[in-house]
Amino acid sequence: MKVIMLDIDGVLVSGKAAAQSGDPKFLPPGSIALVNEILEQTGALIVVSSTWRRDSDCKDRLLRAGLLDRFHPVWQTPPFLDRSRMKRRYQRGCEIAVWQSLNQAQRYAILDDAPDILPEQRPFHVKTDYETGLGPSHVEQAIRILNA
Ligand SMILES: [Mg+2]
Repeated sequence: MKVIMLDIDGVLVSGKAAAQSGDPKFLPPGSIALVNEILEQTGALIVVSSTWRRDSDCKDRLLRAGLLDRFHPVWQTPPFLDRSRMKRRYQRGCEIAVWQSLNQAQRYAILDDAPDILPEQRPFHVKTDYETGLGPSHVEQAIRILNA
């Protein structure tokens, strides 16, 4: 099984789209279509790593925006409560590592604009830019990682 570790702010929601729409929670159809393309080309399932995962309507919002209903049964990374400085520096990466240790995806790609992923996860990190979000080159990179 393959999964996409999906961040939302800075990936689906870009600074630019938020400014243009005036809605910081606007999910642009173009970004959603790019994620759907990754899902279709790779057969991967979705795991939400964004802080949006804590919102009760997170999944509904994504589905209403047009994201394919291809969520992993464990579709959220766990909360990470370790407050040590070292761990906080890698919070997103640690949350993904805990999910991975419990669920064992054969392959994963991390779509995230944040730098706080673990050094050993870097080969699987598709790093986006907060202002512009997900673009076609990131889709290619994710497909390469997942279909390798
Ligand atoms: Mg982000």
